[in-house]
Amino acid sequence: PRPPEPGVVAAIVAEVYAHCRADTSGELADYIPELAAAQPDSFALCLATADGRIYGTGDTTTAFTIQSISKPFTYALALADRGPEAVAQRIDVEPSGEAFNEISLDPVTERPRNPMINAGAITAASLISGHNAKERFQRILDCYSRFAGRGLTMNEAVYASESRTGYRNRAIGYMLRSFGIIDSDPDEAVDRYFRQCSVEITCHDLAIMAATLANNGVNPGTGARALTAALTEQVLSVMTTCGMYNAAGDWVSTVGMPAKSGVGGGILAVLPGQIGIAVYSPRLDPHGNSVRGVAACRELSKRLELHFLHVT
Ligand code: GLN
Repeated sequence: PRPPEPGVVAAIVAEVYAHCRADTSGELADYIPELAAAQPDSFALCLATADGRIYGTGDTTTAFTIQSISKPFTYALALADRGPEAVAQRIDVEPSGEAFNEISLDPVTERPRNPMINAGAITAASLISGHNAKERFQRILDCYSRFAGRGLTMNEAVYASESRTGYRNRAIGYMLRSFGIIDSDPDEAVDRYFRQCSVEITCHDLAIMAATLANNGVNPGTGARALTAALTEQVLSVMTTCGMYNAAGDWVSTVGMPAKSGVGGGILAVLPGQIGIAVYSPRLDPHGNSVRGVAACRELSKRLELHFLHVT
């Protein structure tokens, strides 16, 4: 099918934004004060095509922390650093049906069930190459920055708060170490995970990161390759089955795109070969997904016929 004209896409993005705007239900994440301090009514919607067009509306330049949307990108870097086989020996790719912060491993394989829950994400963070902790985190930051097409930085206050309160994630790190899934310092892996969650992005950045995944790993703006095509496919596969916490099944049936959300209020969705979508709206539903983010992706998918199983 022929993609819609740019004017049509711009109009639909504006319509969907207006359609979703009035919904102020949901609650801000409040496990650390920095997230509870977000402007609750901030709302941005941005769509970027694999060939480099960007359509945005609302608070597209407001900074927020990437949180769990970091997970597919660190997983991508771990795959590139260690190779898919070595990573698969430590992290499964099965949906968990559990909360993202569950302190659990698959009882049969004794591995984290997937890289989108904290146990798998902390394991992925432990697998990043580098001479020391500083260099390993810098490589994560450089990787995310290649996806975004600009130099990203970490929000120090959010990081300090995550670190001060992160006992549950430390428990997960120690569990992983005791099962030999992490064979390095678990405190270092968990600290890297806190740092990666605290990277600041805007909705505009997130749309370009999504478009880079849509464009087989090449950033449409800079032309730089952020990830190989084969690994991009692997990352998108895991996002399809595990990206939206326990709402993954509902998401696939009503939106039909690989996606990842974060408790900072962001959602990233990808139609492979075509477009990346980003939404920022910090009020969350009980799953931890942005209320207006989910609604806007549903509406956009419906109006632009983006569902990956849709046949025209
Ligand atoms: N920093 C958060 C945590 O690990 C991120 C969670 C999320 O976005 N789901 O608990």
